[in-house]
Amino acid sequence: MSDFYQQPPRLENAYDSDPLLRAFLERRLPADELVEVDRELHRFGERVIGEIARWGDEAESQPPRHIPYDPWGRRVDDIWVSDGWRALDRASAEEGLVAIGYERRYGERSRLHQMAKLYLFHPSSATYSCPLAMGDGAARFLEVYGDRNDERVRAAFTHLTSRDPADFWTAGQWMTERSGGSDVSQTSTIARRDDANGCFRLSGTKWFTSATTSQMALTLARIEGAPAGGRGLSVFLVELRDATGALRGIRINRLKDKLGTRALPTAELTLDGAPARLVGGEGDGVRKIATLFNVTRVYNAVAAVGGMRRAIALANAYARVRVAFGERLIDHPLHRATLLDLEARCRLCFFLAFRVVELIGKEECGTATDAELAMLRLLTPVAKLYTAKQAVIVASEVLDAFGGAGYIEDTRLPRLLRDAQVLPIWEGTTNVLSLDVWRAIERTGAFEPWRDDVADRLERARGKGGRHVTPLLGMLSDVTHTVKLEDAALRAAGARELAFGIARITGALGMLEFSADAAADENIERALRG
Ligand SMILES: Cc1cc2nc3c(=O)[nH]c(=O)nc-3n(C[C@H](O)[C@H](O)[C@H](O)COP(=O)(O)OP(=O)(O)OC[C@H]3O[C@@H](n4cnc5c(N)ncnc54)[C@H](O)[C@@H]3O)c2cc1C
Repeated sequence: MSDFYQQPPRLENAYDSDPLLRAFLERRLPADELVEVDRELHRFGERVIGEIARWGDEAESQPPRHIPYDPWGRRVDDIWVSDGWRALDRASAEEGLVAIGYERRYGERSRLHQMAKLYLFHPSSATYSCPLAMGDGAARFLEVYGDRNDERVRAAFTHLTSRDPADFWTAGQWMTERSGGSDVSQTSTIARRDDANGCFRLSGTKWFTSATTSQMALTLARIEGAPAGGRGLSVFLVELRDATGALRGIRINRLKDKLGTRALPTAELTLDGAPARLVGGEGDGVRKIATLFNVTRVYNAVAAVGGMRRAIALANAYARVRVAFGERLIDHPLHRATLLDLEARCRLCFFLAFRVVELIGKEECGTATDAELAMLRLLTPVAKLYTAKQAVIVASEVLDAFGGAGYIEDTRLPRLLRDAQVLPIWEGTTNVLSLDVWRAIERTGAFEPWRDDVADRLERARGKGGRHVTPLLGMLSDVTHTVKLEDAALRAAGARELAFGIARITGALGMLEFSADAAADENIERALRG
């Protein structure tokens, strides 16, 4: 009988073991800020592989349950969640995972600080990053569109950005109905005026509502008599429960039985006269709600990269302790090359996602130039769609790198793939966002500022001897050619390739500027092959 037992992979402090993140922050933050952020992330890097990961595991193994009735037959629609899920909520508040973005201690670099934390937090959090994303998106929406004289709106913003676990709120976003999530213009939820102070009653059904235990949600509905289509929709703030904890005009029909994100409650809801406040005025709701999506899409991109980083860290750790054919996996050239390929994909995505993080920080602090605003509009959907697709590829390959263990539930590895698979679907599917890239190009002229910026930076990199300047210029010329296509069907059919091209160029340029040594060259080559 064999007495061999495989040593499991061990994670190290998630921040200390991530030289890319540390070097990136060193370049981006002034010395005094760096000292503070570095100290905080070092502490947090330990916490995310310790108690936060344990809470995430607990939440994953004890998924939420819908309790429709109390023991006496009264309809209550409770959602039971584990202690682990609740602890993740408390930790999110204490760590300021949303608050940092609004305290703006480091001005336009605050989003960088916040997203560096999210990147470390997400892979341990059993997707608690989802309620945080929606809470942050709601806070930004209220900041832009909320009426500061409306006490309830002010209170909601304060809750969403609180560091006090007792006061902290997260938010849902209820957009998708049975008729569609990509095309919400068919929304059939009706808003009936309840009083003259902007209060309405909502009736309709919402087909996907994640984080249904959140205290509030932003949702789309059509005010009675408003025109059909997206322009006839308005945005409403719903507070889910009254002071006794009872749902206000809302029924939970059931929780979704999902491939992944199993700790996250995602429900189907019926709104039956749910009280709601109009926010941002009547109509044009689909355009206005983009303010929320811009934030949740940045979260999606950063979560995708954080997930890749964690998966690769696990695969590397395993490759150092697993032996096959007399050698550690890491010493087999082909296995090592496979892992390096994943590392290169992850790096490219890192630079792409954090480029958007830097731009959104500038936009929110009013320091972005017009060209930067245009680039933000272009790169937000690009970063979301590209990093999400890469996250699925990387997670799948990491399971492969574990052999049979990668397929076995109690290693907790299959979750990496399940949870990655949602990233290309929610917050806008890959094709729908690719078409959004075209909209950004056609309606806001977002391509030229990006192209000019890339061309300038490539010229500067050429001066420093960057070997990949020429291939990147070639790629830039290809996407410029696609942008000039006139045939509408060809443009639509090529939208994904165009978005992927913009993503690869942006990410590879970040890699090129960051370091110009031979290892970096090799990484760029690998990333561009991906
Ligand atoms: C786990 C999970 C949680 C979710 N949570 C929420 C939530 O909290 N709130 C919420 O509002 N929604 C939520 N959603 C819903 C999600 O946002 C939608 O499923 C998504 O937007 C897609 O919409 P759909 O399902 O209607 O697919 P469809 O819109 O029917 O799309 C189906 C396919 O057609 C493609 N497609 C659609 N239009 C075009 C086009 N013009 N050209 C080319 N291809 C096209 C899409 O890319 C997709 O591949 C959640 C979904 C999941 C899986």
